[in-house]
Amino acid sequence: MEDCLFCKIAAGEVPSNKLYEDDQLLAFYDIDPQAPVHFLVIPKKHIPSAAALTEEDGALLGHIFATIARLCDSLGCDGGYRIVSNVGEDAGQSVKHLHFHVMAKRQMGWPAG
Ligand code: 5GP
Ligand code: ZN
Repeated sequence: MEDCLFCKIAAGEVPSNKLYEDDQLLAFYDIDPQAPVHFLVIPKKHIPSAAALTEEDGALLGHIFATIARLCDSLGCDGGYRIVSNVGEDAGQSVKHLHFHVMAKRQMGWPAG
């Protein structure tokens, strides 16, 4: 999608600190990390947010979550990790392309702010 920052990152038009990539998704480090480990996982296809997901995205979501688990294993996130996907303004979604924040290696507070 034109003028979507994460579509441009997925296409390699905007550089990113890449962690993992395949034909369906890209994982890259957040530019403004909120934890010692903080990366984002995005589908390569443009989906505006989790609110736009359908039953047909089930396999993609399974692949995203399995990849997150594998990456967290490889990064040694033994104490656990938090996965967050902000949807809409109240939640603070600033980039309108579905993304999962993965944060680890510090104690997380609850409830989330
Ligand atoms: P949101 O606020 O939409 O949930 O998350 C967007 C995230 O994207 C933020 O954590 C922000 O730091 C990150 N971000 C914004 N622009 C860039 C960029 O150009 N490169 C990278 N790596 N992360 C970005
Ligand atoms: Zn996009």
